[in-house]
Amino acid sequence: MAVINENYLLIKSNYIFAEIDQRVEKYQNDNPDADIIRMGIGDVTRPLPQAVIEKFTEAVKEMGEAETFQGYGPYRGYDFLIDEIIKNDFNPLGIELSNEEIFVSDGAKCDTGNIQEIFDVTSTVAVTDPVYPVYVESNVMAGRIGPMGDDGRYDKLVYLPCTEENGFVPEIPKIPVDLIYLCYPNNPTGTVLTKEQLAKWVEYARENNSIILFDAAYEAYIQEDDIPRSIYEIEGAREVAIEFRSFSKNAGFTGTRCAYTVVPQELMGYDSEGNPHSINNLWYRRQTSKFNGVSYPIQVAASAVYSPKGQEEIRESVDYYMKNASIIRKSLKDFGLSIYGGVNSPYIWIKTPEGMDSWQFFDFLLNEAHIVGTPGVGFGPSGEGYLRLTAFNTLENTKKAMDRISKLSL
Ligand SMILES: *Cc1c(COP(=O)(O)O)cnc(C)c1O
Repeated sequence: MAVINENYLLIKSNYIFAEIDQRVEKYQNDNPDADIIRMGIGDVTRPLPQAVIEKFTEAVKEMGEAETFQGYGPYRGYDFLIDEIIKNDFNPLGIELSNEEIFVSDGAKCDTGNIQEIFDVTSTVAVTDPVYPVYVESNVMAGRIGPMGDDGRYDKLVYLPCTEENGFVPEIPKIPVDLIYLCYPNNPTGTVLTKEQLAKWVEYARENNSIILFDAAYEAYIQEDDIPRSIYEIEGAREVAIEFRSFSKNAGFTGTRCAYTVVPQELMGYDSEGNPHSINNLWYRRQTSKFNGVSYPIQVAASAVYSPKGQEEIRESVDYYMKNASIIRKSLKDFGLSIYGGVNSPYIWIKTPEGMDSWQFFDFLLNEAHIVGTPGVGFGPSGEGYLRLTAFNTLENTKKAMDRISKLSL
């Protein structure tokens, strides 16, 4: 008899996106003329940069010629891409990395989901709340955080609430935790940590031999000066942090798939007797057994992101989305709502108006303005009372949506 991994039955994903689709579909059926604008999407809409397409196409052609054909690539990724990553994403920040510390992959979702495999099943895990669901669900599947209690919280998961009350800055836990997932700029709240605030986490991790799993998928959206672009800008972080980056949100690779993970050589985990082991070696071991790399044309395409033309084009796209974000921020503020994020990220986190919970505000926007957002409660218990809008729609639709909101009354 094939017995299943019962941990999968513990996942209480509330199927938030399915529920949103259902409500939107019903509304559209009942109101066929309603011009619904989707601002819940966490996916980019602008096409790949031309600089990327040119190199991508050339690389595809190379695959069709015996002289230039490429089979399996190096497990960590091609050096032509890794060299560009280090030179462009880290050296300008004063960070030195060796090629062996970079692992090119097909997505930050897979990497942030898979990384827990190399840690013990009894490890304590802390996540900010609200949170990107991947971190939580991958640990549930592994049997690390038990079933969900009646209060909607997983038994063994340490929640770090990020709310209006604490300015969306997670408080350092009073108890030692082993693994800490931090995502900055944050999805879903759109908020950031300053260098000083992030440094406290590095200090905590160093004191407790914990490891910080730092998701920097939205790094390209940072506009302000004192916001760290990489956790390795913080002194001492190399010994305690793994960083995840992605070409999805900066260069539009959500459907193309390319990302990378940084695992410094100094980073150690411990066996049950307290002996240190290189996390870089373990991750390399895991990848060589379970992963055969990202396709050659896609790695060539990703390397073109770093060409001068590629950099200019991704800057234009980010600026485009950030213009939407600032329009959303201004309109919602003028309308009298309390809003967060949208300054260093494409996400705007709205406090629901007095007396409405996340779903009620969702229905209000859908019914009254034909705008679809994402109820904050779908990202964790502390997301209740909030709703997320994204800046990923077109400028035209964003303006239209905000114009509708300005005509509403609460
Ligand atoms: C979109 C996103 C990613 C990127 O995932 P990919 O698999 O690289 O497309 C990673 N982390 C967060 C929090 C995200 O929102």
